[in-house]
Amino acid sequence: MKGLCILGSTGSIGVNTLDVAARHPEKYKIVALSANSQVERLLEQCEQYQPEYAVMANEDSAQLLAERLKDKNSSVKVLSGIPGLETIASLDQVDYVMAAIVGAAGLKPTLAAARTGKRVLLANKEALVMSGQIFMDEVKKNNAELLPIDSEHNAIFQCMPEGYKGLSESGITKILLTGSGGPFRTKALSELEEVTPDQACAHPNWSMGRKISVDSATMMNKGLELIEACWLFQTTPDNIQIIVHPQSVIHSMVQYSDGSVLAQLGQPDMRTPIAHALSWPDRIDSGVEKLDFFSVSKLEFEEPDYERFPCLRLAEESIRKGGTAPAILNAANEVAVASFLDNELKFTDIPLIVEQTLNNSPSRPALSLDEILEDDLAARKEAEQLIALRVKQAK
Ligand code: NAD
Ligand code: MG
Repeated sequence: MKGLCILGSTGSIGVNTLDVAARHPEKYKIVALSANSQVERLLEQCEQYQPEYAVMANEDSAQLLAERLKDKNSSVKVLSGIPGLETIASLDQVDYVMAAIVGAAGLKPTLAAARTGKRVLLANKEALVMSGQIFMDEVKKNNAELLPIDSEHNAIFQCMPEGYKGLSESGITKILLTGSGGPFRTKALSELEEVTPDQACAHPNWSMGRKISVDSATMMNKGLELIEACWLFQTTPDNIQIIVHPQSVIHSMVQYSDGSVLAQLGQPDMRTPIAHALSWPDRIDSGVEKLDFFSVSKLEFEEPDYERFPCLRLAEESIRKGGTAPAILNAANEVAVASFLDNELKFTDIPLIVEQTLNNSPSRPALSLDEILEDDLAARKEAEQLIALRVKQAK
């Protein structure tokens, strides 16, 4: 029986994780759940899954949840804030931590899971993008297991040999990172300026939270995934080829020196990578419908369009630069996306804000978490100022 902590249990990945785990009550015990602000949602989950702990991001919501639970004579312990999240990620009775908080907010609790030697199921790519080497060092030092949940990285992991030590040691010539191209792959460039948050969040193949949906539409998601792949598989952008594959049937591939290409295929349903990472090296039922090849009409592949999607270039430049540059990129992107979702900033302004923030924010070697968080904060302030200026000019 493995004890499971889900950071961000009310989100898209969180709910899918509960769905898979609940299919195997003899294998997984839900020890802890957490949410940002959805008190009622977390209350429902507490009633259904009876965890030992529940954490709300802020004190007031935590108090509200505690009262609601008390009314129901529940014994669930309620904690709050980052310290609460770090506590549940480090509990002795927790073996596996699903890191499914969106954005930088997930960094500290995910690091806590690595530091306490857990199996970390990493959906929260922003945490790794920000802290790169520091995160990987903690995993190694504390004998944690790092299993990717991002469908592409999970696919790549599945196509790698057991005990992977590095690309050349494994006879690998390239990682082929696929992406659907998002909802605006073929939209006229002139129309992109006016797209709404709801249009950007209507992904053709995947159903996801709003932040990652916008990232998919700008293709910043693929950029963040490029950085994520560099850290997970200890390589550089030179060894990673991004391939646009609109059907999202192939989830990524690995090319070997003998000419073989291994791919992982499946339905676009996150329960597959979640089940894989929960049960690895075994396999369990995920509830996902089997892939029917006769209903897959065709598989198409295209080169990514760096002009239409400048975020791809910005992400690649930032990982090549290294240090705190990816954290600055990520911070600016989080602020710009939130502003777009608030109907403040135009869709096409997102890459502009990210690029200007990168230009105006000096990066440095990422030697400590404090330095990373300082540069993250400074980049957020810079991006906010740039957005305020832009919004004022547009009026
Ligand atoms: P979501 O918005 O649906 O859920 C986010 C979760 O994090 C929620 O439970 C929310 O309550 C919690 N949360 C948000 N802000 C928080 C804060 N400040 N403090 C504490 N908790 C907070 O997002 P999602 O789509 O489930 O994505 C989660 C992560 O997984 C992201 O990093 C995303 O990039 C990654 N991911 C998601 C998918 C997908 O299919 N949804 C696929 C690959 C990777
Ligand atoms: Mg992905």
